[in-house]
Amino acid sequence: MLHTSAPRSSGIVLEPELPICQTDLPLDWYQEEFRPYAEEYLALPDRTPGSVLPWLDRYALPAREHFGDSLLLLAHFYMGGEIVKLVERYGGTIADSYVLALQAARNPEKRVIVESAVHFMAETIAILSGEHQSVWITNPKAGCTMEMLAKEWMVAPAAEQLVARYGDRLAVVAYMNTGGALKALAGRTGGAVCTSSNAHKVVARVRAEGKQVLFVPDHHLGRNTAWKLGIPLERVVQLAEPRAWAAGLKLSDGCVPGGLAALDRAEMILWGSSCGVHTVFRKEHVAWWRARGWQVLVHPESPLEVVQAADGAGSTDFLWRAIAAAPPGARLAIGTEGHFVRNARQQALRRGVQVVHLTEIPEPGFPAAGCGCATMSRNDPPHLAGMLDLLRRGAAPDLNRVLAGDVVDEVSGRRERLDDAERATLIADARRALERMIEITESSA
Ligand code: SF4
Repeated sequence: MLHTSAPRSSGIVLEPELPICQTDLPLDWYQEEFRPYAEEYLALPDRTPGSVLPWLDRYALPAREHFGDSLLLLAHFYMGGEIVKLVERYGGTIADSYVLALQAARNPEKRVIVESAVHFMAETIAILSGEHQSVWITNPKAGCTMEMLAKEWMVAPAAEQLVARYGDRLAVVAYMNTGGALKALAGRTGGAVCTSSNAHKVVARVRAEGKQVLFVPDHHLGRNTAWKLGIPLERVVQLAEPRAWAAGLKLSDGCVPGGLAALDRAEMILWGSSCGVHTVFRKEHVAWWRARGWQVLVHPESPLEVVQAADGAGSTDFLWRAIAAAPPGARLAIGTEGHFVRNARQQALRRGVQVVHLTEIPEPGFPAAGCGCATMSRNDPPHLAGMLDLLRRGAAPDLNRVLAGDVVDEVSGRRERLDDAERATLIADARRALERMIEITESSA
């Protein structure tokens, strides 16, 4: 039985003057089946709710009518603000990756689950879903750049060598931002999955069992977790460049700073991937806002020096709650994904709370950051309209169906599938790691 707090409304409402400004994708970015919806969308006079909503209603409302209570729409907090609002408009749920992962299992009456977010999130829902449920992603090209540098074929050559060297002492802790194969590896090695909200609890539990942790894929979250737990940072090592292992790199003095002696002493071994959205933050950003009386809160995918300089750090759920709880007159600079901050700013302004993005500093020397997670934003209104309409008509492409263990090429959107027996094994191992995370999280809530 899975327990967790219910997802909350984002508190975002569609206002007539608020533009739907999701970036338009080029037509050849759409799967053939989705192009008619994209052509209609591109032909709309503008991106205001007055234009977009009647168009989207033509597809979303019949689908909702057709599927009734068996349809579940999901989106992540980092999605372009417009999709967040549209998914909520049609009765869907907006949440962080932990709560999204549990949605199929917590809602067994939902048979058709449509996700507007990145692929690993949809795959995690599929791992925990029942056989009567199907999971769909509106755009299979929506990958996570952090996960793209931690594919199983990249990690496995390093993990195998580490297991050969350390045996049962090595346990993999897989951040939610991994494919199912790495979650299964965590399950097989006695580790667990974690999210940014529970990484410290999961790593602490695994270490209490005398294990050395291989933390994949985000070295920033791994290092921040070690710092939070008081693990000496000289006992935390980062492996060589992620692509080097599949190219044949062997465990040797050159594979980590400090060589094999440092590796043998390490309490945490970090894979070397990271999130481009969160690595733009610098401690100078934090200092600029704090010097002007703003409170600074950041996500722990940010570099350690940023987390150490900030007033607080935590998951998207932590950040959302902190903004929601801030009293009128509070001023918060938030270091995380741009769409999230934009949505939070709108919600906070109603209560007299000012919210800015950490990089919004109006001075030379502080270049503007990008608008947010570009890959997640590949799930735009035409993809949502097309997915719902194609599902209703029984014509949804198999490319958009998400099964556990699928390996996706984020450029073409193509996926390789496991056979049924391989998938069953992967699901069993990955569930063990996910259920361990849930047990650790819920037992300490
Ligand atoms: S914000 Fe970063 S870690 Fe999150 S899905 Fe996007 S690329 Fe991946």
